[in-house]
Amino acid sequence: MRELDINNTIEIIDKVLLPKSNYENKEIFPFVKFNSYCKTCNQINTIIIRPFETGHALSNLFVKNILSKELILKHGVAKKAAKWQSHLGELILFNVPALYTFNKCGNCNQLFLLVFGIGEVQPGRMVCQISGLWRVKEKK
Ligand SMILES: [Zn+2]
Repeated sequence: MRELDINNTIEIIDKVLLPKSNYENKEIFPFVKFNSYCKTCNQINTIIIRPFETGHALSNLFVKNILSKELILKHGVAKKAAKWQSHLGELILFNVPALYTFNKCGNCNQLFLLVFGIGEVQPGRMVCQISGLWRVKEKK
């Protein structure tokens, strides 16, 4: 899939089923790689997450009005951080900061929102948890 920047408001269509949502240590470096099936055109796309390189802070989504906080919580994209987790940002995943990217299907240009969290949950234990991949469209 091609990664791209989206600055318009989006609408969530549905969630895409992924083969696996939890990657640890060796599976993360040099990158997390998995395939996903485009429900719009049936093409298989490859998604790559490079730790500490791929992704933007999830707060961009509501700060830039791309997706409201209410919809983020409603669709289970991320959770509200508890007070003691506030250093991780307002919205989190599994005790690590939430990040997102937009990707387009290489065949039909269907837009997808990928949300994941990456970080060290215990000393020496790095995890990459994928919250989900959503089929989305830009509101015109
Ligand atoms: Zn497609």
